[in-house]
Amino acid sequence: MNLTLPPDVSLQPATLRFLNTTPKKLLIGGEWVESTRRETFATLNPATGEELAQVALAGPEDVDMAVQAARDAYEKGTWGKLSGEERGQLLWKVADLIEAHSDELAELETLDNGKPFRVARNGDVPFAVRHFRYYAGLAGKIEGATIPVSIPNQFVYTRREPMGVVGLIIPWNFPLLMCSWKLAPALACGNTTLLKPAEETPLSALRLGELIQEAGFPPGVVNILTGPGMPTGAAIVAHTGVDKVAFTGSTEVGREIMKNAALSNLKRVSLELGGKSPNVIFADADLGKAIRGANWAIFSTAGQECVAGARLFIERPIYEQVIEGLAAEAQKIRVGNGFTPKIHIGPLISEKQLQRVMGYIASGRSGGAQLVTGGERLGGELGSGYFLSPTIFAHQDDSLPIVQEEIFGPVVAATAFDDWDELVQRANDTHYGLASGIWTQDISKAHRFAHALKAGTVWINGYGYFDAAAPFGGYKQSGFGREMGKDAIELYTQVKTVWVGL
Ligand code: NDP
Repeated sequence: MNLTLPPDVSLQPATLRFLNTTPKKLLIGGEWVESTRRETFATLNPATGEELAQVALAGPEDVDMAVQAARDAYEKGTWGKLSGEERGQLLWKVADLIEAHSDELAELETLDNGKPFRVARNGDVPFAVRHFRYYAGLAGKIEGATIPVSIPNQFVYTRREPMGVVGLIIPWNFPLLMCSWKLAPALACGNTTLLKPAEETPLSALRLGELIQEAGFPPGVVNILTGPGMPTGAAIVAHTGVDKVAFTGSTEVGREIMKNAALSNLKRVSLELGGKSPNVIFADADLGKAIRGANWAIFSTAGQECVAGARLFIERPIYEQVIEGLAAEAQKIRVGNGFTPKIHIGPLISEKQLQRVMGYIASGRSGGAQLVTGGERLGGELGSGYFLSPTIFAHQDDSLPIVQEEIFGPVVAATAFDDWDELVQRANDTHYGLASGIWTQDISKAHRFAHALKAGTVWINGYGYFDAAAPFGGYKQSGFGREMGKDAIELYTQVKTVWVGL
């Protein structure tokens, strides 16, 4: 392992110990095992390009074994005998353990994903803790209903039962958080699970697996399969022993998953997919807040976020002023190694992703959009990592790829609008529908916008807030199913209707 850190930075001994245990193994049936074919892959530090660890690559045989372990745990083990409250107690223990290992988990997140340590430590990790606690509380409160029917002497009630064995496939942008968004409700509902983290960021999921074992979960309830989409993810989706797949990632892969789920055993699917979210600033907004908010909406996480406010609509009278303010804010952003104190954003996840984003920047330029600021790969001491300067394009053509396609990088496409009907039509002119933002002091205008937008979330005078209790998910090709809140219970249970002749 090579580990170049900024001066005066040292890692927790526990983090070093974890990294030094390599190759990392798969968690199957409560045991850490090598992959059947003994294949591994490297996970890299995106800030330096250095290899952090070798990780087991799960092939179809490993997926088979994990499905069998999850099926046994579901049907034969002690898991199915636990009450919801008991499952909740185990989830609470996981939350406590994550909290106790916050520094270590945040370090792994910064090493593997590149995000600033401060963000991982104060954002991702505590949010993951809250998530486990929220579903720990809900685990004993999963209710059916009694149904009044028109047939005499029949008493009808419903039960919400687990799906069974569920596959959880997650991306690299919030590795630990995505584990918690999927695992906590799936386990609260009584399912057994196969978790596949992204190939780029397996480390925090593997450490979480150790903590889940320490919490005392029965073997086979949580299995962790590391490896790429092909073959690992695809084998989970194609497996007839998997009852449901919950996926977060690109719309393209979501489409593939739905198709393959249908072709195998018609397994249930929920999809949280891409976005190209409109963020709107009206002339009556508090401009200072709106500009800082728009800046945060796109550039936090270097734009690698499904809800990134990537299309900025500015009311014409304030257009020049907002563009100038936004450029000034963007130029103040400190980009660097996530362990460097006071940096705001880290690198992109990989050389491939950097090249993809650079391709969009080139297409924006050649397509006639005006590059206001940014657009360059950062060199010097950052040259071996995948760093890009925050980039603003001004444009008048909504059909450009930089306006229509999910870039997943620090690139915003800003444009002016003149009236309400034009705004609503253009803001909705996308096949995505994940999120949107509006900045105005006119409360009725804000609500009218919230109702007119075809998107799963609308933020008014703010952007990017999440809470374990607030449902989240997409309209249109941003997916379906709602994660978080009580709505997530619907994703991981099925309803059984019981008729009782009285
Ligand atoms: P993907 O959608 O390709 O990957 C998401 C997850 O799905 C990963 O674990 C991936 O594995 C897995 N996967 C990939 N192909 C398959 C398959 N055929 N069957 C089952 N699982 C599969 O996202 P990428 O990481 O490749 O990023 C590409 C683009 O996707 C980004 O630029 C961005 O536009 C979008 N994206 C959107 C996200 C969101 O939250 N909406 C999150 C991440 C990306 P692995 O990565 O290990 O190969």
